[in-house]
Amino acid sequence: MRSSDIDVVVVGYGYAGAAAALSAASSGARVLLLEKAATPGGISICSGGGVRAATDEDNAFAYLKATCAGKTPDPILRRLAEGMVRMRETLTGFARVNGAVVAQRVYPGNYPLPGTGSLGSMFIESIPNFDPAVSYPHVRGSAENGALLFKVMEDNVSANTDKIEVVTNCAARRLRRTDSGALQLELAGGTTVAPRGGIILACGGFEADAELQAQYWPGGPALPCGYRHNTGDGLRMAQALGAGLWHMWHYHGSYGYRLPDPSYPYGIRVKSLPNWWSIDNPHIPKMVWILLDCYGRRFMNEYEPYGQDTGHRPLAHFDPATQSYPRKPSYLVTNEAGRLLYPLGRPIRNDPEVSYEWSRDNSREIASGLFRKAATVEELASLIDADPQVVANSIDRWNSACANGLDPEFGRPPNSMHPLREPPFYVAEVHQIVSNTQGGPLRDEEQRVLDAFGDPIPGLYVAGECSSAFGHLYLGSGNVTECFVSGEIAGRNAARFRWEDKVEQVGSAFSRLRARERSRATW
Ligand SMILES: Cc1cc2nc3c(=O)[nH]c(=O)nc-3n(C[C@H](O)[C@H](O)[C@H](O)COP(=O)(O)OP(=O)(O)OC[C@H]3O[C@@H](n4cnc5c(N)ncnc54)[C@H](O)[C@@H]3O)c2cc1C
Repeated sequence: MRSSDIDVVVVGYGYAGAAAALSAASSGARVLLLEKAATPGGISICSGGGVRAATDEDNAFAYLKATCAGKTPDPILRRLAEGMVRMRETLTGFARVNGAVVAQRVYPGNYPLPGTGSLGSMFIESIPNFDPAVSYPHVRGSAENGALLFKVMEDNVSANTDKIEVVTNCAARRLRRTDSGALQLELAGGTTVAPRGGIILACGGFEADAELQAQYWPGGPALPCGYRHNTGDGLRMAQALGAGLWHMWHYHGSYGYRLPDPSYPYGIRVKSLPNWWSIDNPHIPKMVWILLDCYGRRFMNEYEPYGQDTGHRPLAHFDPATQSYPRKPSYLVTNEAGRLLYPLGRPIRNDPEVSYEWSRDNSREIASGLFRKAATVEELASLIDADPQVVANSIDRWNSACANGLDPEFGRPPNSMHPLREPPFYVAEVHQIVSNTQGGPLRDEEQRVLDAFGDPIPGLYVAGECSSAFGHLYLGSGNVTECFVSGEIAGRNAARFRWEDKVEQVGSAFSRLRARERSRATW
C-alpha cells in the first residue's frame, strides 16, 4: 500500500488492533496495521481468552458503574454495557471465518455488586484442524482459549488483505502534527506515514515499562507476566500531543515469583484459584500457602475475592515509620503436603526467546532454589531473616485459625485454609506481578483521545488496553470485551475522519494547541 493510499493507521496488533482494523476496513477504509514485535498477538494471545457478555444492558451498566467507583464517565460505561449485550453476536460473527466453536460459561461478576447476575462469559472452545501449540510455539497462555481467540482475529484480518496491510517488526515512535495540523506518525527507521483519516493507538499498556510504573504506582514497578513489548509507547505518543491521563495507578495483577535465573525476564503468577463466587464448590482445591512480610508477620487475606485482580495491592504497602516497604518482597510459605498438591506457579509468555516449564510437584523450583526448604519453624525464620518468635507466632495463629475454621485477622475463606503443621516447610519470595495495565490516555465514548482540558485531539483514537475504562476494580474477561467494543468504535470513527473535511475544525483546535504551547513558553 502506498503511503498516500492509507486512510487509517492502527498501531499494535493484539485483539484491539485487529478489531479496530476490521472495523475501519468494513467502513471502507484502507488500513495499515503496524506491529512492533516480529509476530502479532501482544498479551492478547497469551490471555485466558474469556470474553465478557451480558444479558441486560442496565444491569451490566450498574455493575460497571459500581466496579469503576465513579472514576469512569457514564457514557463510556454505557457503550461497554451495550457492547457486552451484543458480544454473542460479535464473537459468533468473528468465529465464522474459520468455523471456530464459541462456548459460554457461567461467570457472574467477580464481586457481589449490583447487576452481577446478568453477566456471563464466552470463549473459543476449538477451531477445526488448528492446534495453538503447533502454530504458536512461542506462546504459553493462561489458557489455550486466548490463542484460539487470537487465531480467529488473525484469520479475519487475513481475509481482508485487500483492505488491511499488516507490517510487523515496525514500531511507531512519535506522533507529530504537520504544519497543516494533520497527524503524522514516525516509524522506527525514520519513515513517516500520514493517513487521510485517523490514527488509532492500540498498542497496549505499560506492563513492561518500569520507568512509568515507578512514576505512577504507589508500590513502584511490578514484574510483567509474559510480554516485553508493551512499554507505554502509545501513552507517550499521545502525551506528546497534549493527552490527559486517567487512572494510571490501576493495574490487574497478582503476586508471584521471580526465577533465580536472571535471563528469564518475567514474573510468574502464583497458581490461580477460583473466584469467591464459586468457593462453596467442594471440589475447589485449598490454597496451600500463607504470606509473611519481611518481619515474619501475616498481613493479608491471601485468597481475596478475585486474587488475579487485587492480589498485588497489599504488597505495595509503605511503612513511613521505618521508611521501608516491608512486603517487598513477601514470602510465600507452604509445607510438604501443600507442595505436593499442585504446581504453585503458572508461567505464561508470548516470547520466542525464553521459556520455562513449571514442574508438577514443584521439585524443579526447589532444586533451583526458588523454594527453599526448612526442617523447623526456626530454620524457616532464618531463611527469611526474621525473628523466630514472630514467625512461630504467625504459624501458630494460622494453625489455630485452620482448626477453628475462622481467620479472625484477615478473613480467609474457611474452605480455602490449609494448616501448616507438619514440616518440612518451603518458602519463596513473592513480588507484585502485572498482568495488564488499565490506565492510559484520557478518552471519551467515541474513543477519541482527549487533551488535558477534555477537548478531543483531532484525528487521534485509542482502543483496548492502551486506555482501559476500568478505574477501580477489574471485571474478569472485561478487557477482551473492551478490546472488541473500543476497537469497533475507534475503527469506525477513524475511517470517517477526514483531514480535508476538517480543515476549519482542526485548524482551530490546532491553533488552540499552539496558543497553549506559546503561553507555556512565555510563562
Ligand atoms: C495472563 C493473562 C490472562 C488474561 N486473561 C484475560 C481474559 O481471559 N479475558 C480478558 O478479558 N482479559 C484477559 N487478560 C487481559 C487481556 O488479555 C488484555 O487486556 C488484552 O488482551 C489487551 O489487548 P490489546 O490489544 O489492548 O493489547 P495487546 O494484546 O498487548 O496488543 C498490543 C500490541 O501493540 C504492540 N505495540 C506496542 N508498542 C508498539 C509500537 N510502538 N508500535 C507498534 N506496535 C506496538 C505490542 O507489541 C502488542 O502486540 C489477560 C491478561 C493476561 C496477562
